[in-house]
Amino acid sequence: MPSPSGLPEIPCPKCGRKDASAVLGDVCVFCRDEIQARANTIARRGALVATLLMAVYVWVRIPRGGASALPQIYGVIAVAATYIIMYRIISRVAFEAFK
Ligand SMILES: [Zn+2]
Repeated sequence: MPSPSGLPEIPCPKCGRKDASAVLGDVCVFCRDEIQARANTIARRGALVATLLMAVYVWVRIPRGGASALPQIYGVIAVAATYIIMYRIISRVAFEAFK
């Protein structure tokens, strides 16, 4: 059955469901949500591991007890940034891998 726009509905390559809003070669909305949830789970775990490694690195490498607290502040920022960046990267890579 053609979509309201007149274009033929495209079946999802993963589940075969026909979706009017689907793009040729792309998965449907339902599969996209499922894949994104799986990718986010893996991204959370991977980002946590990377963040722990970064925290250990910061703990070992940044000198403590100096006159300025700036190195510690930058270390905390680096640890937080590691989680955010790694989460986004791993989520995207996992999503593309599962698609
Ligand atoms: Zn699908």
